[in-house]
Amino acid sequence: MSETMTNKLNDLCKKDIKTASNEELYHALLKLVDEKSQQQVHSVTGRKLYYISAEFLIGKLLSNNLINLGLYDDVKEALAAAGKSLADIEEQEPEPSLGNGGLGRLAACFLDSLATLNLPGDGVGLRYHCGLFHQNFKNNIQNETPDFWLTDSCAAQATDTVFPVSLAGKEYSARLYKLPVTGYEGRTNTLNLFDLDTVDESVIGDGISFDKKDIAKNLTLFLYPDDSDEDGRLLRIYQQYFMVSAGAQLVLEECAARGCNYHNLADYAAIQINDTHPSMVIPELIRLLMLHDIDFEEAVQIVTDTCAYTNHTILAEALEKWPRHYLDTVVPQLMPIIEKLDALAKSRTEDGSLAIIDQNQVVHMAHMDIHFSHSTNGVATLHTQILKESELAGFYHLYPEKFNNKTNGITFRRWLLKCNPSLTNEIESLIGNGFKKDASELKKLLAYTNDQNVLRKLSEIKKQNKEALAAWLLHKQGIKVNTDAMFTIQSKRLHEYKRQQLNLLFLIHQYLEIKAGHIPSVPLVSIFGAKAAPAYIIAKDIIHGLLTLSQVIENDPEVSKWMQLVFVENYNVSAAEMMIPACDLSEQISLASKEASGTGNMKFMLNGALTLGTMDGANVEISEAVGNDNIYIFGQSSKQVIHRYAAGDYCAKDWYEADPNLRRAIDFLTSEKMLSFGDEEHLKRLQNELIWKDWFQTLPDFNAYVVRKQQAMADYAADQENWSCRTLINIAQAGFFSSDRTIEEYDNDIWHLGK
Ligand SMILES: *Cc1c(COP(=O)(O)O)cnc(C)c1O
Repeated sequence: MSETMTNKLNDLCKKDIKTASNEELYHALLKLVDEKSQQQVHSVTGRKLYYISAEFLIGKLLSNNLINLGLYDDVKEALAAAGKSLADIEEQEPEPSLGNGGLGRLAACFLDSLATLNLPGDGVGLRYHCGLFHQNFKNNIQNETPDFWLTDSCAAQATDTVFPVSLAGKEYSARLYKLPVTGYEGRTNTLNLFDLDTVDESVIGDGISFDKKDIAKNLTLFLYPDDSDEDGRLLRIYQQYFMVSAGAQLVLEECAARGCNYHNLADYAAIQINDTHPSMVIPELIRLLMLHDIDFEEAVQIVTDTCAYTNHTILAEALEKWPRHYLDTVVPQLMPIIEKLDALAKSRTEDGSLAIIDQNQVVHMAHMDIHFSHSTNGVATLHTQILKESELAGFYHLYPEKFNNKTNGITFRRWLLKCNPSLTNEIESLIGNGFKKDASELKKLLAYTNDQNVLRKLSEIKKQNKEALAAWLLHKQGIKVNTDAMFTIQSKRLHEYKRQQLNLLFLIHQYLEIKAGHIPSVPLVSIFGAKAAPAYIIAKDIIHGLLTLSQVIENDPEVSKWMQLVFVENYNVSAAEMMIPACDLSEQISLASKEASGTGNMKFMLNGALTLGTMDGANVEISEAVGNDNIYIFGQSSKQVIHRYAAGDYCAKDWYEADPNLRRAIDFLTSEKMLSFGDEEHLKRLQNELIWKDWFQTLPDFNAYVVRKQQAMADYAADQENWSCRTLINIAQAGFFSSDRTIEEYDNDIWHLGK
């Protein structure tokens, strides 16, 4: 087999691969992937899904595509025989910068599962030139630079398809780019990305600054342009409308080509609205259908039958609402339709809080989605329950039949096969390879919980993965870590509700305990990966606190042999693939009720980490799957939290004063030691925030967190075999969290896709 592959690669390189450069090999492999993926493009019959999303955090594609197309082993072997390494070649590939965090990664996992399950489902989004910023640290502070990831080797191909889009009364052309999405032993679907030919990267000035008014040049430069001023907020609306208008035209064109007469659009298309960024697709489709001589009432019905909405958050500040004059400026053509939809919504209910346009002339995007789509889903059982009972209770009362839950999932191709080949091989040797397409087969691993050889093997694999991460950290950031230590990892976007500050307070506490002569049961390496939104001041202060503490520890040999704090720069999918397989303890410590689902939690579980977490999001379902002995749960329940918010009587200062350990840790933020490496303004602001505000109730959970984490450390130190057994149970029970299961549920309950 590998000989045929060698010949094939020689052909594609037009030379002997022994003498080819990594760049030449990279381009040859792209061609190989392209040829093979084209062979599994199928025509569509029946309903096809369009998954519209502002983000697709797809990660590097080459290895994943080779795995999905069944080429990986042959390619690896052929390259090895020629003295080449696939890992080195992969270095040539920039990671696509088309997403930000969980929501975008979910969209990427869903595309993989759709193609794997042989379902017709394409993505629709924007082709950002720089996407999310690149993060680096200077003086313990996050610094943002543009991520110029779009090189000529980028796999998204320009097409001749352009759609006219009118922004603030001026016409622009949206060009379609296509990126093939390969399924594992499945079909090839497409990620459709739109862009404007006139966008100009040279308008970017210092850092990631640019003139926000010049739409023709800046429209698709960045994902989530800074919206702390009005021009930034307007730019977001320009982007959103550009995406949905071009997307809606694509849907109509493709369906018409398959014989749709628009009256029966819902038989040809299902549109999933991923959070509120694409909400304007609803009025836009109605507008376009009316241009095809369909009257308003019928158009509303067609669009309602076609569209479905996924809610990703209950954080009030994240539910998009725009002053109506913004929409008057950017999309005057939509306002008459949004007004009619608002009037229709008001005719259905007397509850003013469910209006699309409220008394203050603010337009609520989520409200439009719920009134005028046929399905609203939350992303974990607890989240959906909170939507029904509190956050969206009024809507649930009006439309109980629309509400449903779809617990998130992750694709095991990337988050096991690709990122953890040793564990994949071990699983395969025990239970065969059926789990790659049917994740529930992982349960067969439960037969090995008493098998010492298997448990020892799992520990060895974990150790190897820790060594690989250590080598990577040394190479990337010049940091040496102790691989005999226990690795705990908290990697996710930086946000106060995710509570990296709680972990910071624990680490300060641990530092002070060691200084006081209380040696921990095991050395700890605490690893973070997180980007903060550029305008989110407290989030950046938390990063500063962590980086400063890291230096305090590093410069104290008495402590540094017991604990290390490592902050990975520029957390992205590639970093996640290195970090997650090396983790012993997964930190999922959001304030209960605030994390809609989380998907990081699932990736860590699948890769043999135990979870230290609150009863929040999908942690609840993880704890039910593995049982209380195989997870470390702590902290307030979501009911208690919701209660405390309703009562409005939380006072952080009382907690600060009542607990001497907590007070000592918070006071340390502005201690002489911290100030010798850190900046007083940042540290003082963080300290004040914790004492005087602490909106996400870090302080009430501090003590329980310390106790539970120290318990996990003691358990880890006491009995490696038992720890390993518990990681095996976590892996075995991870099958439910495959995005294949999630997509099957969406298809059965919402989409009913064709072939
Ligand atoms: C999975 C993933 C996330 C989401 O993590 P959560 O812990 O669910 O917030 C964010 N960023 C990257 C790069 C990921 O791979």
